[in-house]
Amino acid sequence: GCTAQNVIEALRAGAESIAEHRDELVALDREIGDADHGENMDRGFRAVVSAVTSTPPETPGAVLKSAATVLISTVGGASGPLYGTALLRAASAVGDAAELDGAGVAKALEAASGGVVARGKAVAGDKTMLDALSPAVEAAKAAADSGAAPREVLTAAAEAAAEGARGTGELVARKGRASYLGERSAGHVDPGARSTALLLAAFAGAVA
Ligand code: ADP
Ligand code: MG
Ligand code: MG
Repeated sequence: GCTAQNVIEALRAGAESIAEHRDELVALDREIGDADHGENMDRGFRAVVSAVTSTPPETPGAVLKSAATVLISTVGGASGPLYGTALLRAASAVGDAAELDGAGVAKALEAASGGVVARGKAVAGDKTMLDALSPAVEAAKAAADSGAAPREVLTAAAEAAAEGARGTGELVARKGRASYLGERSAGHVDPGARSTALLLAAFAGAVA
């Protein structure tokens, strides 16, 4: 199963991937936003890693809750409250379980996606992080239903998220800053969808 320590490792891997792709995320956000998504995410995930490293929470849910609080207070921009709410909902969904199995991971992802919808009111096809997260949830649930372990559930989620993120290139934005561009937002991948895909791939690589 996936322990608190595994969740901390996953967040650390996520932070590393975001740091590596910081310039790419900035470049994507320069095309259809305000060129800060890479900086916002890098600042937020560095702060998350330092918080969960200095005071490691004892359950997966407590790690997720700590990360959520840090993201909300450090990221700024639309993505901070969205990712923060996602992690807060994921934390509630897993409760005080000591370990998560594949089904627990899928449930956490589903709750995270619900949090993004509740907070940002986007629907599928609006060209947001939801276009990566929502297919990831479907893939995670299907994998969990067939008895997959956390790593396989996250791998399935990451693959679906990557495909969803690529698909945002064709979409016209209907939420967030990119929506100000109208039809001109088409032809560029959504930065938040790309960061979601990066995070899920990193989580999958870090979890047993
Ligand atoms: P800001 O747009 O405030 O500068 P960021 O650049 O950090 O914040 O994040 C932008 C990303 O946030 C977008 O690429 C998109 O994926 C996501 N986003 C923006 N608004 C919404 C929303 N209402 N629902 C879901 N995701 C959103
Ligand atoms: Mg931005
Ligand atoms: Mg901004």
